[in-house]
Amino acid sequence: MGIVQLPSLDKRILTWDNEKLIPRNCPVCKRKGHPMFVRPDGLCVKLCNQCDTFFVSPSPTNTQLSKFYSGYEKHHRNAKQVNGAQLRKMYLKTNPYSDYRYQVFTSLMAMQGKRVLDIGFGRGFFLYFLKQLGAQVTGIELDDYTIQYAHEDLEIENIIKTDLLKIDVREKFDVILCMDLIEHILEPFQYLNKTKMLLNPGGIIAIFTPNASFALQESAPILFRVDLEHMQYFSNTTCNYLAKKLGLDIVHLENVGYPSLVNLTEDQSVKGKLKKVIKGFPGFEDTYRFWKKHFSQDFSRTGHYHLFCVFKKR
Ligand SMILES: [Zn+2]
Repeated sequence: MGIVQLPSLDKRILTWDNEKLIPRNCPVCKRKGHPMFVRPDGLCVKLCNQCDTFFVSPSPTNTQLSKFYSGYEKHHRNAKQVNGAQLRKMYLKTNPYSDYRYQVFTSLMAMQGKRVLDIGFGRGFFLYFLKQLGAQVTGIELDDYTIQYAHEDLEIENIIKTDLLKIDVREKFDVILCMDLIEHILEPFQYLNKTKMLLNPGGIIAIFTPNASFALQESAPILFRVDLEHMQYFSNTTCNYLAKKLGLDIVHLENVGYPSLVNLTEDQSVKGKLKKVIKGFPGFEDTYRFWKKHFSQDFSRTGHYHLFCVFKKR
């Protein structure tokens, strides 16, 4: 199979400074990998045949990525802004067990008195609700606005503006959450190794990330055509490789998410609506929101767009 040029799906096409791109081996196991696809933003996606990770190479540098994220809220997040007070109001009406990830965490561990670290906590959902179960929660974030509302409106005391790699390894946690995180960073192995160092024995690390396990079943995988700031895509094999390399046990591994767009667009009853949504909204996240609104909660678990893996330290 030759290298497949992927057509764009999303209006939000990123442009990278091609001269500043850097060659990159597999960010999980350092193998070279084979070029498979060219994304709509021109970046090549390679497949590592040792750990089954798909990764962008050559990739933008950390400087280029930081520049992109500094304007993220303004230029790329098309979701409606919710302020801290609105978020708090929303959470007061939310049953956290409606989130299957919350169900999994709380079934794996009694949270009372446990130390939880959420890296890049976004809207603070897990910090807010795990705190209610008696966990001692800490969040790290780089976004000032997010930090402010977590403090003021969600009343999370321990919020630190820092990078995970800068945290003192003498700090120990029982639960570390990396939700929608690992796909954004250039050195995911280094990150996960650091989370392991910060974990107490018996503690868990959860990752939630786009799932490349089924990418080769599609001729033009949706996964590589949206959210073009993603630098790698893990598969089930990646998780097994990581567990082995880091000496962790996998206690939960699930392919999860809304049904694939390919199947949905073939369903005539939703085709029109979906087309309209894709045309009307630049972001894929909005398409999710559409699904969420129009289908039941359980539906969110029947697809395989995401990979949800929980590792446990021995
Ligand atoms: Zn690899």
